[in-house]
Order: sequence, then C-alpha cells, then structure tokens
Amino acid sequence: MGPLCPSAPPDQDGAQVLGVVRSTERGPRVGYLNAHQPVTDEILAAAGPVDPRQVIRVAAPCQENRCSHHDGQTCSLAARIVQTLTPVGDSLPPCVIRRRCRWYLEQGAPACHRCPQVVTQVDAHATPAALLNGADGAPLAFEA
Ligand code: SF4
Repeated sequence: MGPLCPSAPPDQDGAQVLGVVRSTERGPRVGYLNAHQPVTDEILAAAGPVDPRQVIRVAAPCQENRCSHHDGQTCSLAARIVQTLTPVGDSLPPCVIRRRCRWYLEQGAPACHRCPQVVTQVDAHATPAALLNGADGAPLAFEA
C-alpha cells in the first residue's frame, strides 16, 4: 500500500475521514478520528450545505504525478507547510494514518506539529453540529 495524502478530496477512491475541523479562538483545528472511517454519503450530507473540504479533512491514496503539488519526487505542499506555517503543538497528534502519511514520511514530526491547522478548502464556515457531535446517532470517534 502506498502513501496517503492527508488533505485529499472526499470523492477520491479510498477516501477516509481523517478529522473534523473545529473552530477555536486560535483558528481552525482538526480533531483527528481514532479509527479508519470511510467517507460516506451520510457524512457528506452532514457537512452540507458547505463544501466538505471546509469542515472535514480527508485522507486518500496519494495521486503522485497526477497532483499539482507533486514535484516528481516529493510533495511540495508538505514542504511548504513546514517552511511557512508556525507549529501549533510540540507533540504528535493522535493520527491513525501516520505510518502511511506522505507529509510525515517526507517531513517527519514538523509536519505533524503544523497539521492540525490545515484546512483543505479555506473559507469562512461553521462546522455543522452533526459532524462535531456525530450524524444519525453514530458519533464520529475522536481521540481525546
Ligand atoms: S502530518 Fe502527521 S498528524 Fe497530519 S495527517 Fe500526517 S501523520 Fe497525521
């Protein structure tokens, strides 16, 4: 199995929910799920009416040369994130994809120290309660 992109579109084959974006006074922060959760129609519906990329982070198989961020060998987005963003923590967030995450495989812990502030599609938004609290009585399971 190849590496996973931790900021992928939700309609990609093999997409799983990496986390849900929560608003904090310090800006958006991703709450990471503690289990592998495929993207489902129910989860996408719970994100509505906003673009799901504004309120969830999705992981999916890295598209490598088919992605504009891939420079032929590495992920230029991961490098930019480490070079330009300020760390928002100094420990590794709980994250079920770490062993396969391309950002971590290439940039190591500094990627994880910045990852929780990354939103795939940046725009003003409020994360629907159904995502934060769980849709259809089946809460998404977050790490503490
Ligand atoms: S950069 Fe780190 S925290 Fe973010 S998805 Fe990859 S392994 Fe997980």
